[in-house]
Amino acid sequence: MTSPLIEPTPEPALSVPAGRWSHMAPISFGTALKRGLRRRCPRCGQGSLFKGYLSMADHCSNCELAFEPYRSDDVPAYFTILIVGHIVVPGLLAMEKTMHPAEWVQLAVWLPVTLFGTLALLPFIKGAVIGAIWRSKQDK
Ligand SMILES: [Zn+2]
Repeated sequence: MTSPLIEPTPEPALSVPAGRWSHMAPISFGTALKRGLRRRCPRCGQGSLFKGYLSMADHCSNCELAFEPYRSDDVPAYFTILIVGHIVVPGLLAMEKTMHPAEWVQLAVWLPVTLFGTLALLPFIKGAVIGAIWRSKQDK
């Protein structure tokens, strides 16, 4: 017979059913942002946020958080353009000023950097934006 004073051992955080997440300590904005940046669920950090390159999963496979209410729209594209632009434009100007290469060389260098930089960053920035949106709605 067990004593009524002994409380049951709490479950590990990652196996808590979805309805019980609201009773857990709030997740910081930075943590939600980092989890999103890793393309993971901002609430548990385990389930994948995406089912494809940029298409969102319906819900977290670990904690069942529904991702549908969190729409990032064009914000990830704006941040991606901002970051890639701050790499490409100074790089192009510096290359022009120091080496003054032919135009085809500038194009051969900076068009692929722009294209692949954008394609590489966009899904991670979209995840970070979703994490930030999710966290910002937790305070309401
Ligand atoms: Zn989750």
